[in-house]
Amino acid sequence: MRVLHGQGVGRGAVVGPAVTVHAAPSVPWDLLAPGDPDAEVVRALTALDAVATTLEERAGRTAGAIAEVLRATASIARDPELRDQVRGRVMGGQPAALAVDRATAEVVEAFTAAGGYLAERVTDVRSVRDRAVALLQDLPEPGVPALDRPSVVLAHDLAPADTAALDLTKVLGVVLEHGGPTGHTAIIAGQLGIPCVVQVVGALAVPDGVDVAVDAAAGAVVVAPDREARRRVEARRDALADLERDTRPGRTADGSPVPLLANVGGVEDLDAVDCAGLEGVGLLRTEVLFLGRSAAPGLQEQVDAYRRVIETAGDRRVVIRTLDAGADKPLAFVTRRGEENPALGVRGFRTVRDDPELLRDQVLAIAQAARETGREVQVMAPMISTVQEAAQFAALARDCGITSVGVMVEVPAAALRTRDLLAEVDFVSIGTNDLAQYAMAADRLHGGLIDLLDTWQPAVLDLVATAARAGADAGRPVGVCGESAADPLMALVLVGLGAGSLSMSPAAAPAVRFAIARHTTDRCRAIAQAARGAVSPDGARAAALDLLDAHVREVLSLP
Ligand code: PEP
Ligand code: MG
Repeated sequence: MRVLHGQGVGRGAVVGPAVTVHAAPSVPWDLLAPGDPDAEVVRALTALDAVATTLEERAGRTAGAIAEVLRATASIARDPELRDQVRGRVMGGQPAALAVDRATAEVVEAFTAAGGYLAERVTDVRSVRDRAVALLQDLPEPGVPALDRPSVVLAHDLAPADTAALDLTKVLGVVLEHGGPTGHTAIIAGQLGIPCVVQVVGALAVPDGVDVAVDAAAGAVVVAPDREARRRVEARRDALADLERDTRPGRTADGSPVPLLANVGGVEDLDAVDCAGLEGVGLLRTEVLFLGRSAAPGLQEQVDAYRRVIETAGDRRVVIRTLDAGADKPLAFVTRRGEENPALGVRGFRTVRDDPELLRDQVLAIAQAARETGREVQVMAPMISTVQEAAQFAALARDCGITSVGVMVEVPAAALRTRDLLAEVDFVSIGTNDLAQYAMAADRLHGGLIDLLDTWQPAVLDLVATAARAGADAGRPVGVCGESAADPLMALVLVGLGAGSLSMSPAAAPAVRFAIARHTTDRCRAIAQAARGAVSPDGARAAALDLLDAHVREVLSLP
């Protein structure tokens, strides 16, 4: 038994067999040219055949869209033109791996230039390349494996496209060597209630098939757990299951309502909202609806997508965020290519500079979906930095027929000036993931900077406090929709600072509901004040823990 440590996301716990996602193989620049080109051609084409056969076999074992994708990818490996290209390169003296690498690179370039449907197939071409090159170099199969049983997925990191390719119904847990707690894999895992630990050194050395116990609350991954370690993780899983049975609205111990809302990426996440008894959607990340698309969705397609979410939410409140494309969530049809520093570039609301019609179409589609469903929908814009941007968005949204308009406070400039923003909009929602990134000048995807990205950093707490106070003074709602709201101890601080609602991954709600219900508003204020009195994140956490109800501390196994 071996214990690996990292940063846990959420509180879940699980035991299951390990499956590793291997990175794409590179081709060494000094690979030797083949002695016998004819034999090398056979080797190259046999590798492409083997890739196609494996994918076709997998397609035969699944159905629907996944089977179609697998068959389409297999057909690329069998494409006569690609095979001719590879043959020609090998006969010209290139080793098989290099020939496959270069020939597929040319296809990628041509598909990308062609745009549209062909550009969407670039991922499939790369997938064929990676698998064939790995085979030719006797390396393990790269990419997302086809899971044939519930498993714990271990990877260096997962791109949004990798996560999308996983059969999430079979993913028990996720362990990443790299990745940050607010990166998108962590967010998606949190959303689905999948226990996740990031920054786990040595995760990729765990052999496939070996059992691992993942305890997100403890940030621990036990490899080949003994009976006692297995029992502890299972006990934690059962304690959380008990909390999940309470689905009452969020309320402090003295009865002040604190609506608990969900951060979602699409209609399929709404089942979890229902199960967790949440009071609505506090953040619909609309960019997630269109990840992997090369062309902008049309107006009617958008209306349909938003209508499905609004209808499924029923009479619950829904806050839709306009596209937050760029940086960690690039969308091919919006994001500028080649920006040196995309997190500080044209992302979120700023994309209006390049393509005002895209935002207008989106807001029109949301307004139409709201009209068709007869529901009032709240709409907010991400990455607002100035009062002028807030005013521009509010004017556009009202012009399109939206009656409740908000902006996110996730840039320090916006937090410091929330008072002025609230003169333009009806509500604000604090995004602590980006607020921490920008306040601390630390890339949220940079695993080595986790300590700086901590929402318990005194400067981040100060910014949240400033924004919340502005809301109280203006009598306008200030909610929090960053992942920090999913931490039950931080949730108490946020309530104490004046947050009127908390939006989080549905899986986090039971622990947050339980913590809030055991503390009065005054107690939350005292906890917030104690945290803000500290000069370090650890000090702030310790000060808050000191005032935490002992029963909550025990049940949630807070340190
Ligand atoms: C945030 O930044 O806190 C937020 C909720 O937005 P996202 O994580 O989607 O950037
Ligand atoms: Mg954000």
